[in-house]
Amino acid sequence: MPLDNHSLLTAFALSGGGLALTFFVSWLVSRTERFLIAWTLGVSFMALGVLIYVWYGQTMYPVLGAAGYTVLLTGLAFVYGAGREFRTGILPWRSMAIMAVTSSTVMAGPMLAGYNGVAIVMLNVAATVILLVTAWDYWIGRAEARLTITLLTGLYVVTGLSFVPCAVVLLQAGEWRLSQVPSNWAEDLNIGICLTTLAGIGALSLALNQVRLARGHKRDAETDPLTGLLNRRALLGRIAGEIEGPAALVIFDLDHFKTINDVHGHLAGDDVLRTFGEILTLSCRSQGLAARLGGEEFALLMPGASLVTAAILADGVRTRLAKRHFTGNGGSFSSTVSAGVSCSEDAVIDFDTLLHDADKALYAAKRNGRDRVAVSSDNMEFQTHIRSMPDGQRGPIDLVRLKTG
Ligand code: GH3
Ligand code: MG
Ligand code: MG
Repeated sequence: MPLDNHSLLTAFALSGGGLALTFFVSWLVSRTERFLIAWTLGVSFMALGVLIYVWYGQTMYPVLGAAGYTVLLTGLAFVYGAGREFRTGILPWRSMAIMAVTSSTVMAGPMLAGYNGVAIVMLNVAATVILLVTAWDYWIGRAEARLTITLLTGLYVVTGLSFVPCAVVLLQAGEWRLSQVPSNWAEDLNIGICLTTLAGIGALSLALNQVRLARGHKRDAETDPLTGLLNRRALLGRIAGEIEGPAALVIFDLDHFKTINDVHGHLAGDDVLRTFGEILTLSCRSQGLAARLGGEEFALLMPGASLVTAAILADGVRTRLAKRHFTGNGGSFSSTVSAGVSCSEDAVIDFDTLLHDADKALYAAKRNGRDRVAVSSDNMEFQTHIRSMPDGQRGPIDLVRLKTG
């Protein structure tokens, strides 16, 4: 090894300090990502712990050895906590405290009693365990970004295992009172690996955070903030990119919504919109894509659904809304919705035509008295089917002839 152990430890402490600074600046830029703070503290503690350990190596004062290793183990516990906070959003204070206190106690006891060889074995075992637990924690959450998290897990495992030979070499030597800190191939290998993986782990952790931020921004850009449904642009994007025909489309438009706002206030209007969004989501479950097209207009795209299925589902949504009661400036009130349904048999969805047909049907539903569903269809079989349904099963469903011929 061209560099001595002492220089490598100092290099580790310096690059750890640089990494901590990078994490801290990243946190300043996006303060919602609180795990970056835990990471900053973790790497800072580790760097500081290694510096104290270097000092211990020069003086062999047991207090310095115990302090350096305690700070290092606390840093490792913070790195574990940062990983957990990244996955779950909660910093696991209790587990971190248990990790740091237990490992420091089993290490510091022998160190202060003069058995520094035992203390160093304990440190190596504790570091292995904490790093492997951290690796396992990342592995559990690998679904979020498979490649990055798999690599990260691998780096934590390699780093954790690199502490094992250090303990084994000391155990084989059987010397429990050392006059100087151990310097052997296992120590060189360990610090070499830690130096390499520290940079990799740091870069991958930041990359992982960027992946999450980018996903969050995309989700925000696609989501209607009031109802949590997809917005118009997102729906069009999904149709263009992911969904193939045939498909049915339902357009919903709340009835006399302007009057609701005027009489009961804008907040009560918002409450109706939110509730309608919930009803739509619950009603379509995984059968379709629900979106707020704008204002009080919503869409439900149902890939593979027939007109009958879509019309019955639309009528269910209509009925559920009519049963709900709201409170506003003018007292208690209820709200109704009209819907227009269209269908396309084509392999590629022509959303403009579907929307045009559904809009025409919706217009008919409004004209025929609102609080009803209208279906655009020329299909005689479908018309017979709807008409033959018992009244209890279908509400007011109108049929609109759209196509000629
Ligand atoms: P119709 O039965 O014919 O559909 O009549 P309408 O009153 O529902 O239709 P109109 O298009 O005249 O009014 C739509 C209203 O929806 C007007 C607008 O102020 C209201 N609106 C649009 N977006 C929001 C919103 O986010 N919150 C609230 N509270 N109101 C909204
Ligand atoms: Mg409207
Ligand atoms: Mg309306």
